[in-house]
Amino acid sequence: MVRIAPRYGLFIDGEFKPAADGRVFTTVNPASEESLSEVALAGPADVDRAVSSARTAFERVWSRMPGSERAKYIYRIARLLQERAREFAVLESLDNGKPIRESRDVDIPLAAAHFFYHAGWADKLSYAGFGAAPRPLGVAGQVIPWNFPLLMAAWKLAPALAAGNTCVLKPAETTPLSALLLAEVCQQADLPPGVVNIVTGAGETGAAIVAHPSVAKVAFTGSTEVGKQIREAVAGTGKKLTLELGGKAANIVFDDAAADQAVEGIVNGIFFNQGHVCCAGSRLLVQESVAGQVVERLKRRMATLRLGDPLDKNTDVGAINSRQQLDRIRELSASGEAEGAGRWSPPCDLPERGFWFAPTVFTGVSQSHRIARDEIFGPVLSVLTFRTPEEAVTKANNTPYGLSAGVWTEKGSRILWMAQRLRAGVVWANTYNRFDPASPFGGYRESGFGREGGRHGLEAYLHV
Ligand code: NAP
Ligand code: MG
Repeated sequence: MVRIAPRYGLFIDGEFKPAADGRVFTTVNPASEESLSEVALAGPADVDRAVSSARTAFERVWSRMPGSERAKYIYRIARLLQERAREFAVLESLDNGKPIRESRDVDIPLAAAHFFYHAGWADKLSYAGFGAAPRPLGVAGQVIPWNFPLLMAAWKLAPALAAGNTCVLKPAETTPLSALLLAEVCQQADLPPGVVNIVTGAGETGAAIVAHPSVAKVAFTGSTEVGKQIREAVAGTGKKLTLELGGKAANIVFDDAAADQAVEGIVNGIFFNQGHVCCAGSRLLVQESVAGQVVERLKRRMATLRLGDPLDKNTDVGAINSRQQLDRIRELSASGEAEGAGRWSPPCDLPERGFWFAPTVFTGVSQSHRIARDEIFGPVLSVLTFRTPEEAVTKANNTPYGLSAGVWTEKGSRILWMAQRLRAGVVWANTYNRFDPASPFGGYRESGFGREGGRHGLEAYLHV
């Protein structure tokens, strides 16, 4: 289905090359702990080569090319992603641990959609609302996390390329493989060398990209902690910056909501992608009068979730991406118990090898509990209750984050009333975790700044 090479080089100037100092690291399958491949670890010299190659490609080729020509390459990448979708889906599930049903139906089609959508903008930038002839910035340095490896690469590369920038992208250490397959697709699409460079490595590699003086724009998706470091590193340099960081979203269920639909939305909100989702609905706020009933139905539904082999099409919950992340989920869940919340998981056999965590719900959670405040980034839901819409808004906004929220109610007027008051970049109504390349995504406060997707997302890659 997919051929994984025993070793991968860095993708610089259109070719795969080993790291200058020959260093490598291993990426594993989190469902089995087996090693999948050895990948080059880029040091500062490699980052420098990648940025120079991107700078040359920007000056000589990409920024001079008419948008209609750039669009042809981006469309080609989109079509190749579709043609090779099965290969990408299997590779993504192997390297990340996510269920194949999700990589097949969500990650890969959405990644292709991002390239298609942005290809359409490449020759229409003068209609994007940023002046008659908006100019690209130069080299974009892009650093992404492990939860949606290919999709986050698409979110970064597609708008940058459409706007006429060239890119140096670093995938996360635990999930480099789909970005390297995407590099192969760039070759297959005859993308001019240097327009896209993929440098694999660890946090230091990311820091070297951020610090490189020839990088004009930094785009980062990851933790709030690293986001803060990057903001400090970039301050005063004149580099343009967008940060997509963590979240602790409220999924708010009113007593008039369609109960089964809401339960599906709660499950999707927190158990999709093992809860490794920045916009996950990790705090369920349920109206007191229906709380018992909703939690009852939720538990019944949770008992039907199938946890196990990510490559099995019937799997709902796959593996946790790394031991480090598993430890964090365990630690925070233990704190929930210690602080007095009620912990429940359905009966569920965890495989012996690999990193696993059963879907978990905490009831009786109060706002001061760590599990109600800290991002767990795992399949763990905290349930809180409210009586009035005002109380729901106050509790939902009681977080340093502000990425997303969900509202479940039959009343349209209440949806609008809530959406006006919730301090979150995205508010879903009677649905959750819906994404579209035309729709801007991004946060408030500690969830970051700047938008990705839609017309707004282009702004980050243009002189405006
Ligand atoms: P992370 O530790 O911040 O890592 C993200 C990326 O930054 C990785 O590629 C990482 O490399 C790299 N990195 C680490 N230290 C760096 C440094 N000092 N300078 C530059 N780059 C550095 O985040 P994570 O724990 O892997 O990812 C989970 C977080 O991402 C969660 O908080 C989640 O909410 C957030 N997230 C946000 C969005 C959004 O759109 N808002 C989307 C997805 C995820 P290594 O992999 O080698 O450590
Ligand atoms: Mg891996």
